[in-house]
Amino acid sequence: MPTQLIWFRQDLRIHDHSALWHATQQENQCIALVILSPKQWQAHHDASCKINFYLRQLTILKQQLSEKNIPLIITVVDWWKDIPEHIQTLTEQLSVQHVYANAQYPIHEKQRDDATQELLSKHGKELHIFQDHTLFPAKSIRTQSNLPYKVFTPFKKTCFERLQHGLPTCYPDIEIQEKVNVPTHIQHVDLDEILTQYKVSEQIVNLWPVGHTVAQEKLDDFIQTSVKQYKDSRDFPSIQGTSQLSAYLNIGIISVRQCVQALFKPNHGEFVLNHQGVETWLTELIWREFYQHMMIDFPKVSKSQPFKDETKHLAWRDAPHDFEKWTQGQTGIPIVDAGMRQLQQTGWMHNRVRMICAMFLTKNLLIDWREGERWFMQHLIDGEFAANNGGWQWSASTGTDSAPYFRIFNPVTQSERFDAEGTYIKQWVPELASLSSKQIHAPYSSKVSHIEYPHPIVDLKSSRVRAIEAFKNL
Ligand SMILES: Cc1cc2nc3c(=O)[nH]c(=O)nc-3n(C[C@H](O)[C@H](O)[C@H](O)COP(=O)(O)OP(=O)(O)OC[C@H]3O[C@@H](n4cnc5c(N)ncnc54)[C@H](O)[C@@H]3O)c2cc1C
Repeated sequence: MPTQLIWFRQDLRIHDHSALWHATQQENQCIALVILSPKQWQAHHDASCKINFYLRQLTILKQQLSEKNIPLIITVVDWWKDIPEHIQTLTEQLSVQHVYANAQYPIHEKQRDDATQELLSKHGKELHIFQDHTLFPAKSIRTQSNLPYKVFTPFKKTCFERLQHGLPTCYPDIEIQEKVNVPTHIQHVDLDEILTQYKVSEQIVNLWPVGHTVAQEKLDDFIQTSVKQYKDSRDFPSIQGTSQLSAYLNIGIISVRQCVQALFKPNHGEFVLNHQGVETWLTELIWREFYQHMMIDFPKVSKSQPFKDETKHLAWRDAPHDFEKWTQGQTGIPIVDAGMRQLQQTGWMHNRVRMICAMFLTKNLLIDWREGERWFMQHLIDGEFAANNGGWQWSASTGTDSAPYFRIFNPVTQSERFDAEGTYIKQWVPELASLSSKQIHAPYSSKVSHIEYPHPIVDLKSSRVRAIEAFKNL
């Protein structure tokens, strides 16, 4: 029987998988493909912990596919520019006419897929692309004038209206197919060997277990026990008040459709916003959607450019020493240092603290947001271009619908408000553990002398004025 390929990328699961489901509805038998691209990952600043997470999930995917009699071929092609040729060769070797995959929207991914499609079609073959990573297809959320939105609130309103008309349904599970053998001359790579190149700490492996079951349990648990308190607890970094699903959503261990379905399951799948927690969490999923659609509609954000053109000329400071202190959690501002150390040790940082750290870098230190964006990407287990770029451009006031440049977070006030007892700070900056809840947010101004902790590397008041002036001068 003829075979066809399913090319897995940012969608490492077998449940509710658009391309996999469509492929299995055909007569042909399926062979799965994953292409690893270490040099491309490096060029995209992907964190080792994220790659390790991806590879660990791949071992599970391989097992799950084999239970459906779908063999998985794993190959290495360092650069995406070489992928079209690679796939063309593979389709020749396997006598495959059709390749199935889910759409990826970042610019390089899109270029790679377009080139693959073109080459395959020259040889009379087809690459079928399905929408999967977002709730709504690319370019489908439009203003009344049929233009893309640039502001979040009306974008969200339109998304909510669409959801009211019907929630996106999940694809059914796939059947077990008849056994298919991969010809022996097809080269595979040894996953375990590749994994050894992306070693991470035990702490990270234990914090971020892989598998669809793990992600589904996290989701169900969050909906059952935490979503109702989400609105009130989501901003407090010492509480586990958020779902911690971002890393799972990012590489597609779970789908965003599954998240929305789980959210409305208690209402028997009806779109009823009967609780503020439900509405707030859905709003966060729409923020994810918003940044994906921004990336699709405004490709300049993928080219290291700010969304607001006038901010191209901002006089960022060249301050490598300050940048180094920020990355190492040695700025002398406890909440910032706590966040930056949490990131290094766990591959994750609480959203409120991400905003505080990003604003401190771009406003108080007046360092280019692109430097911070890169550092986050190099360390986040959930590193994802659209959300990361969106978060950074929001904080730097260079993005669409971003924080106004004159509204600069004071990290000490933020700390007093969102970590009043200093519980979060004490966890990540243990040298401050002996301080009282009054002293801990600004040990220097409290004139605490018995601790070994740096003085603030910048004066918060004057640096705030400096940032506002820099923006005013544009
Ligand atoms: C400077 C900065 C950088 C960021 N970088 C990333 C990144 O690389 N990858 C990433 O997934 N998120 C990023 N975020 C968004 C947000 O911080 C994380 O999605 C969130 O902390 C993940 O935790 P959670 O899964 O518990 O989220 P929850 O609060 O449970 O939210 C549910 C889901 O909604 C999505 N989401 C929530 N908030 C946002 C947001 N502001 N923007 C886009 N999507 C959101 C995520 O997929 C998240 O898993 C960034 C935010 C900032 C301010």
